[in-house]
Amino acid sequence: MKVLIIEDDHNIARQLSTHLQENGFVTHIAHEGDEGYYQGDVESYDAVLLDIGLPGMDGFNVLERWRASGKTMPVIMLTARTSKMEMIRGLEAGADDYIYKPFDIEEVTVRVRANIRRHKGQLKQEAICKSLNFNMRSGRFIQNGNYVKLTRIEFLILQYLFMKQGILISVTELAEHVYDDFDHDSSIIARHIANIRKKVGSDIIKTESNRGYYVPKDTA
Ligand code: CA
Repeated sequence: MKVLIIEDDHNIARQLSTHLQENGFVTHIAHEGDEGYYQGDVESYDAVLLDIGLPGMDGFNVLERWRASGKTMPVIMLTARTSKMEMIRGLEAGADDYIYKPFDIEEVTVRVRANIRRHKGQLKQEAICKSLNFNMRSGRFIQNGNYVKLTRIEFLILQYLFMKQGILISVTELAEHVYDDFDHDSSIIARHIANIRKKVGSDIIKTESNRGYYVPKDTA
């Protein structure tokens, strides 16, 4: 899951980024409105945390321009609790949610995950495939009563497949959403998938030859 943070306060941006990374997200930071707008326009993000007061284009304008060009990713605005006008303006511009400053950092992850989940049409708290259960609130995989130990990249891959359960995901899309940098080696994905299968069993992630991977929908 890849999150774009647009926030001109460097401390806040770093704090958000560190916390999200610790919770299994890939993050990119932009400190200015124009730069953030461009990032969100050319890259595909699962969610955006968007400050309102920014140098250059402000947060409302960034959001309005994305929505006008058909960008639908969930956008969570960072706003002051006292400003009702900001909230209304943000909703009109197409914001999905708010996080009030000063924010509770623990709440940020929960809110980001909830918005991504809602956006992808997953309304339940957990995603299940056979014996493997992904708790979307805690962000943990549980199998037969035990937490599954995964490397960071394995977690990112499995989380993405579970968030899009039932949908075939190409290797390119998977690589785009789990790697920090732009020039990723997508051939390595197959090796990670093999390692995940060793840990959770071979029946969770299905391969559609030459097209990609998917986790089947739970039929129970
Ligand atoms: Ca600001």
